[in-house]
Amino acid sequence: MIRTRFAPSPNGSLHLGHAWAAIVAHDLARARGGEFLLRIEDIDGARSRTELAEEHLADLSWLGLSWDGPVVRQSARLESYALAAERLKALGLLYPCRCTRADVLAASRADGPDGPLYPGTCRGQDVDPEGAAWRIDMARAVRMAGPLEWTDELAGPQQAAPERFGDVVLVRKDAPASYHLAATLDDAADGVTLVTRGLDLFAASHVHRLLQALLGLPVPVWHHHALLVEADGRKLAKRRGSPSLADLRRAGEDGRALADSLRAGNFPAGISLGTGVGCAA
Ligand code: GLU
Repeated sequence: MIRTRFAPSPNGSLHLGHAWAAIVAHDLARARGGEFLLRIEDIDGARSRTELAEEHLADLSWLGLSWDGPVVRQSARLESYALAAERLKALGLLYPCRCTRADVLAASRADGPDGPLYPGTCRGQDVDPEGAAWRIDMARAVRMAGPLEWTDELAGPQQAAPERFGDVVLVRKDAPASYHLAATLDDAADGVTLVTRGLDLFAASHVHRLLQALLGLPVPVWHHHALLVEADGRKLAKRRGSPSLADLRRAGEDGRALADSLRAGNFPAGISLGTGVGCAA
């Protein structure tokens, strides 16, 4: 049986782009007789807000989407992230790093999929681990895991290339996991078989495939869907004026009708479905 999920972060209101992502994940599960899970990615204690998580649930119900089982909250799973990080440390694959964002920016000589590539400043150094972030020694991890493949059901088979991310942070200074570690562990813990999310996260799946190999986790199939974009081709963002679903809901709009028109490809003026199936960026 297939199981998909929608995994919003409650640090801002949902907009039409999120509605589209949720509908894709929900409808794929329903069309194939599977299950659709909802996961609140509230690992970021400083930016996550309980009332926004509640707002997200209300938005999804308003769109006519139903989910199976209890809502999963990452904040309830911090211990499992810490345990996985300990396993990676025991394999000698993580090292502490105290660099700030500004340090990385100043030292970086190339861009990776997530911005300035970390040049490995703290690797092999005697860094005080107290309150530090922990990065993966990517070259070593890739050697340990060997060649890996993964499949996106739209883009086809992929050779995993996590080294393009360099030594990414897996344990944050302020949280027991980064997005990469938490999302990978959760998808495995929840038995997600089809990881459905936007193409903007395509490249992240290379890292997630590596973590699955290192931690002995099951390997799902991925479905990276096209994003809703504005007339200039940029993805929707609330800060550029895309209305929030909560605003539309409170203004009395019909959420189910909105969801149906998105399904039919009738997007509001100035919004369209971007292209780029399987873009490697
Ligand atoms: N929480 C992520 C976001 O809101 C989604 C991550 C995922 O689907 O893997 O962009």
